[in-house]
Amino acid sequence: MPLIHSKNLVKSYGNGVQEVRALDGVDLDIEQGDFVAIIGASGSGKSTFMNMIGCLDTPTSGLYELAGQNVSQMSIDELADIRSQRIGFVFQQFNLLARTSALDNVAMPLQYMRSGKLAGLSKKEQKEHARDRLAQVGLGDRLSHTPSELSGGQQQRVAIARALVNDPDLILADEPTGALDSKMTVEIMELLKSLNQGGMTVIVVTHEPDVAAYANQVVVFKDGKIIEIKHQHQTQVEVVTPVNTAQSVISPDVPSVL
Ligand code: ADP
Ligand code: MG
Repeated sequence: MPLIHSKNLVKSYGNGVQEVRALDGVDLDIEQGDFVAIIGASGSGKSTFMNMIGCLDTPTSGLYELAGQNVSQMSIDELADIRSQRIGFVFQQFNLLARTSALDNVAMPLQYMRSGKLAGLSKKEQKEHARDRLAQVGLGDRLSHTPSELSGGQQQRVAIARALVNDPDLILADEPTGALDSKMTVEIMELLKSLNQGGMTVIVVTHEPDVAAYANQVVVFKDGKIIEIKHQHQTQVEVVTPVNTAQSVISPDVPSVL
């Protein structure tokens, strides 16, 4: 069973002549342990798709299953529960609370766990769990620092620790390096890679070829559709589902067999 299974997924906005099909029949399976990059031009549907797989929104039609559970028809409350149980989100702008320590930022989601093994932890247990996650991202010595006392790369590492604090099945990152310079981009992508090597499923939306190069699988969106899926191993790129119209969007220094 794939971790993520979508079949003919459609998301429309507006109606009639005004209708925009942000997603126009998306079929995609993602296995546990995959490292996937989602790329495509602005407006191609990447964020809409991330919102679907992140259970932030429901499709207009089509099927979406997360770990075998049909998400397509879930209520707002069920969506919130599945998010807090299964998904860790990472954003371009980190979205940390400004006057709050790294430790409290990371512990925050545990306060809102309503079910599962991490619900009902004491404050002390929440902090212990958060401290473990900060140590995991290499910030065990920055627990009491507030965001303004940390570099951009360190702030994003705090955000990744926060994404990990609910022991999720997958990390969803929308442009996680969009606000970072190239050195910090490498720092963050190496961290995501090491988490993936530890078994975490990682899905990254990006328009940066250097970032997409870290993934094992690159999914290319155009006009709400997937036009290409490339499986790549280190620097080798092989096309698994070739599409005539598609061009390689992988970094030019990555040899392509296209
Ligand atoms: P990307 O993340 O690839 O830039 P999006 O998923 O944000 O693309 O958008 C895909 C298309 O759907 C675009 O044409 C966008 O204008 C449209 N769209 C996205 N969200 C909404 C919305 N809430 N209402 C109307 N149109 C939207
Ligand atoms: Mg977007």
